[in-house]
Amino acid sequence: MLLNRPTFTMIKQKDYFALEPHFLCDVCSIAVTNPICPSCLSIEIEAWLTLYPNLSREILPSVKRYLARIDDKIVDSTKCIKCNNKKAAVCPYCFTDFVLTQLKKANANKIILKEFFEFFNFDFEHNGYCNEAEELGVI
Ligand SMILES: [Zn+2]
Ligand SMILES: [Zn+2]
Repeated sequence: MLLNRPTFTMIKQKDYFALEPHFLCDVCSIAVTNPICPSCLSIEIEAWLTLYPNLSREILPSVKRYLARIDDKIVDSTKCIKCNNKKAAVCPYCFTDFVLTQLKKANANKIILKEFFEFFNFDFEHNGYCNEAEELGVI
């Protein structure tokens, strides 16, 4: 994964070689190599949150606000592998990290956080919340 980063950065400048362009994530500036857009992810997160109605009520408004905010900014970005819209401007890691922060603000307990990591762990090359997931015994 890491090996390709310089090439991806160059492709972003101009797509001379007719390769599928990989844009950089708006938040972490790493190429979006696992492009599932935030709105597709939020559908799954919302479905999962139906198990926890109180939590859902508490965090969904800010998740929706976040989605609206990035939607406004998107001009052209990586094509989402689920919905095929060019909307993967924020990588799955950064989006799930945002949701994780909201879960913590809402005092979600460890069992819920563990479950969240089991379903939505996208930390493959960011070295972010994977340490936390490890502590909870997920990875
Ligand atoms: Zn990112
Ligand atoms: Zn999508």
